[in-house]
Amino acid sequence: MATNPPQEQTTEPGEFESALETARRQLAHAASQLDIDSNIIERLKHPAKIHEVTVPIERDDGTVEVFTGYRAQHDSVRGPFKGGLRYHPGVTRDECVGLSMWMTWKCAVMDIPFGGAKGGIVVNPKTLSEAETERLTRRFSQEIRDVIGPNRDIPAPDMGTNAQTMAWIMDAYSMQKGETTPGVVTGKPPVVGGSYGRDEAPGRSVAIITREVCEYYDRPLDETTVAVQGFGSVGGSAARLLDEWGASVVAVSDVNGAVYEPDGLDVAAIPSHKEEPEAVTRNTDDVLSNEELLTLDVDVLIPAAIGNVITEANANDIQAEIIVEGANGPTTSGADATLTEREIPVVPDILANAGGVTVSYFEWLQDINRRAWSLEKVNEELEHEMQTAWNEVRHEVDSRDVTWRDAAYIVALSRIAEAHQSRGLWP
Ligand code: NAD
Repeated sequence: MATNPPQEQTTEPGEFESALETARRQLAHAASQLDIDSNIIERLKHPAKIHEVTVPIERDDGTVEVFTGYRAQHDSVRGPFKGGLRYHPGVTRDECVGLSMWMTWKCAVMDIPFGGAKGGIVVNPKTLSEAETERLTRRFSQEIRDVIGPNRDIPAPDMGTNAQTMAWIMDAYSMQKGETTPGVVTGKPPVVGGSYGRDEAPGRSVAIITREVCEYYDRPLDETTVAVQGFGSVGGSAARLLDEWGASVVAVSDVNGAVYEPDGLDVAAIPSHKEEPEAVTRNTDDVLSNEELLTLDVDVLIPAAIGNVITEANANDIQAEIIVEGANGPTTSGADATLTEREIPVVPDILANAGGVTVSYFEWLQDINRRAWSLEKVNEELEHEMQTAWNEVRHEVDSRDVTWRDAAYIVALSRIAEAHQSRGLWP
């Protein structure tokens, strides 16, 4: 069987449609199904602010290199801006804007009192030493200091950044403010105000939503086969939980390819990306390509690696009966149309992987209240929030006879529009 050449991870639409184009198209589509003041939609097409900063750092060899950083803040009608920071060579201004819009919808579908933001630095983090990464992060924090804050804009980890990056930002911000301010970022290590369960949260929400959608379509979880693309933070946690809850996880993959066992894999024995990066196929010669994984004859397919993997080229070959989006933007719009025509339900990213931002919200609550929650409480509250959001989206599916994606956008956009209507336009 074929093996995929390893590819650099690029998460969001690029080859097919930019994140901004997708976000604007999805906004227009959702708006067309709702009776919303067109002036509000016009406002939502544009970010509130885009900050572009120059970030000079001294490299280990004594030379100075200058990087470009962005922070796009889309909409804050429901609360402070919230969203990740990525370090990746492909970061662009438009990508940050598009992703910040998705964050606005994601927070709204979960009814979290945050708006949407996204930012990053145009850099390949693999080319930096740890000391250089720390200097870059601290200088970037300084450059965006005036536009972030626990009540203003709260960054979180994303591609190329992690809990350590967040700890540096929290320290840099706190030093400048003269007071320890853990609520300025989420996704920190628990020892400096991070939340238990944050790492696992997006995968846990994907598993919860998979369980719910299976129940919706009268499919007992213990009679359900699942294929998961990507065995990282999202895919790895989702696969392990679904396995624990009785589903048969028959295929998982990483950038090197997939392992497939029709009778069910021993998921717990496969090292996660964090434990041992890219080790999924290490102990087998029988490797499927990532493309082959996507078209396996399974009940549920969970693309949880990168964006734009289900395209017009393979949408007709998908054999899964249900798709749950673990990654951000894994389905192109063309593929979405084909899957709708084929009546294959696709539960969208803004609902399925929203456990990440939900536990970030819990982290922020713990930080501003100076009171840590136990892992049990985090998971219990996450379960409750996911169930509530699921019920609201399901209600729209049932009452309007729309797709799961449209239903999630309808829930989100209705809340945002109502908030804009209520607050009005200043001055
Ligand atoms: P990760 O880096 O932990 O894991 C990514 C996994 O995908 C790894 O197993 C990697 O080997 C695999 N992979 C990378 N490139 C691939 C390719 N070209 N083909 C197939 N597999 C490939 O990343 P993650 O945090 O799990 O994120 C995965 C997706 O979920 C991304 O789209 C991300 O934006 C989204 N997401 C992440 C979070 C979060 O908090 N981690 C929250 C919401 C959404």
